[in-house]
Amino acid sequence: MGHSSQSFSLKEADVAILAVDDEPRMLDSLLACLKPYRLNIDTALGGARACEKLLAGHYDLVLLDLNMPDIDGHQVLEFAAEHGLRCPFIVVSGESSFDAVTKALRHGVSDYLKKPYSVDELVTTVSNVLQQQLLQKEHNLMQLRLQQSEGLHRYIVNSSPDIIFMLDKRGRITFINEKVEALLGYKRSELIGRPCLNLIDHEDRNKAIYYYHKGAAESQGGANFEICLRRKGPSHLPRHFDITLFPVDNSQLVADHISGVSGSVIYGAARDITEQKEAEEFISFQAYHDTLTRLPNRALFKDRLSLAINQATRNKQMLAVMFLDLDRFKNINDTLGHSIGDLLLEKVARRLELVLRSGDTLSRFGGDEFTLLLPALNSNQDAMQIAEKIIATLREPFDVDGMQLFVGVSIGIALYPESGSNIEQLIKNADQAMYHVKERGKDGYCFYAASMSDDLSRQVKLERDLRVALEANQFVVYYQPLIEIATGAIVGVEALVRWQHPERGVICPVEFITFAEETRLINEIGRRVLVAACTEVKRWIDITGHKLRLAVNFSPVQMDDQDFVDLLHSVLQETGFPVEMFELELTENTFIHNLDHIAGKIERLVDHGMTVAIDDFGTGYSSLNYLNKLPIHTLKIDRCFIQQIPNLEDGSSCVVNAITAMAKGLHLNIVAEGVETREQLDYVRELGCNEAQGFYCGRPQPGEAVLDLIAAQQQLSLGSLA
Ligand code: C2E
Ligand code: CA
Ligand code: CA
Repeated sequence: MGHSSQSFSLKEADVAILAVDDEPRMLDSLLACLKPYRLNIDTALGGARACEKLLAGHYDLVLLDLNMPDIDGHQVLEFAAEHGLRCPFIVVSGESSFDAVTKALRHGVSDYLKKPYSVDELVTTVSNVLQQQLLQKEHNLMQLRLQQSEGLHRYIVNSSPDIIFMLDKRGRITFINEKVEALLGYKRSELIGRPCLNLIDHEDRNKAIYYYHKGAAESQGGANFEICLRRKGPSHLPRHFDITLFPVDNSQLVADHISGVSGSVIYGAARDITEQKEAEEFISFQAYHDTLTRLPNRALFKDRLSLAINQATRNKQMLAVMFLDLDRFKNINDTLGHSIGDLLLEKVARRLELVLRSGDTLSRFGGDEFTLLLPALNSNQDAMQIAEKIIATLREPFDVDGMQLFVGVSIGIALYPESGSNIEQLIKNADQAMYHVKERGKDGYCFYAASMSDDLSRQVKLERDLRVALEANQFVVYYQPLIEIATGAIVGVEALVRWQHPERGVICPVEFITFAEETRLINEIGRRVLVAACTEVKRWIDITGHKLRLAVNFSPVQMDDQDFVDLLHSVLQETGFPVEMFELELTENTFIHNLDHIAGKIERLVDHGMTVAIDDFGTGYSSLNYLNKLPIHTLKIDRCFIQQIPNLEDGSSCVVNAITAMAKGLHLNIVAEGVETREQLDYVRELGCNEAQGFYCGRPQPGEAVLDLIAAQQQLSLGSLA
């Protein structure tokens, strides 16, 4: 309203006044007294007339006589009250009894003027009441505006998409908007006066305290940060918020008449960014995880390794990086298809996770390679134990799509700090140690040693060396005797390739066969072995006149070659080797995939008169349906079963028993591989195996030595005949 009480003047007040009296004389004198002022004065003669006028018009002030004949002043006041007429009354009366005055005052009369009055008295009283009236109006208007503006603010604050709040200097909530109910499930009343820390996720509390002080202290800028707040309820589901804090200007609060939040030091807004966060997390999960196994990928592994190295350096601890490569996985993938391979990888990942400690990181490095980070180790014993656990757990068969699949694992271990000081070195050295395991027959673990580093770029070197070896005829064939258990006689030999390396000496096939398969050099190596073995053993047969079976190993890659049947046939013809004494050794994974196609080839070979042996029986796929589909002659029980024979109580010998029983049922020739002791030989003899092969019966050796053995045996039997 602008003007203050001091400037009020009756001369300027443009107001409507009703004067009520039953005596016209009194009304006239009143009019005369107030004439000099800018007042609209209306009159009512008597109480009844007064009531009519009050109902009809609006007055800023009523001058009311009390004693009137028909309706007296008190009744007029009552009438006004009943009809909600709120204008101020000044009672003008000769009556001055205490009763009359208090009765009038009770009706909300503003002032009292006793007749007879002086002009001054009248003017002052009227002026005072009007001024009071004016102030009241001003106040009411102010009140109304304030209510409106508060309503507007409340509306804005409550319809804000953010939680808006104020905190006092002890971090208690002094104000919070309704949004908190929808976003966090709390009633506002539950929160007012409570520490805001109650809402904050435990892990974020220190961070919140830090920013609280920052936000309260800095006069400009405030603070902005992200934290998790927890929803009310048993699950305490966290939601992500972006918080902005500003210091509160308390003088402004007071000036704006904002009550109830005094003592607040911080004003803030919390924006719910949970969905945005979840989207970010999803994207970064995709970027840092392998989609198939949901394990961390290479990038995340390196990240974690880098952190772990820092920590290990600080705490003077060691850590281990393991490089895991599945044995036989490539075979499964090639023969059974990628979808089976993928299912298997997932199962491998889940099984590996069970072996790990909580701080370890297992990642899929690619293909069938996994890396494992073991931070904070006390000794390499810890790493050994975990490696052994992993090997044991992966040795159990996997049930995939109704099949039982076997994979093994080769593990290379590099320790920090002794086997590498940075990420790249540790991974590379663990990888190299893993190759070392593969070369030594797979399924095991090995720590990196400096001596391995000459394996550097060994892949490239190996391929070049293999080509040179072919060029220079460095492949030779060793022969291992096959013994008929019943008589102890050598009834055949298995051809086993050796690489006669000019510097490294005799190299065993485990070191190069897999690689030769990958590069398909095995086709040429295999052809050489075939020609050499057929030529050599034909010569023995000619010399001794003793029929010998020759068993030759063929890898799936060779069987896959479209000229294979023709090649074999022509080599046998050219060397003159007796076809019926030739046996192909095939492993189960050769024909598990595309069985019909391979069966066709095998049938053609068998039609020529050759026999087929299943090599390493029991280590491949457990599905045995091929046994009925293929014309198989011999079953070679893998040496891992034979080697368990001394431990009769652990149940593995039952596998030998079962295989033998089954093979006998199928009328197959049964060979026990890897017989190393007398005890094992006796056991398999008891079971009814036909033949034995192994160090106990004769090691693989160069042709001349085997020929001598055969000749000596013949002398012996000739001697016994004589
Ligand atoms: P395999 O066909 O199972 O051959 C038997 C392996 O067992 C040979 O290893 C032999 O030295 C070893 N062995 C024999 N008796 C015993 C024993 O009593 N105890 C132990 N611990 N081991 C015994 P080798 O010669 O190192 O050959 C390894 C594998 O390489 C062979 O396993 C075969 O799968 C493959 N291989 C060898 N020569 C050829 C070849 O000319 N062509 C193809 N495709 N593969 C070949
Ligand atoms: Ca073999
Ligand atoms: Ca074998």
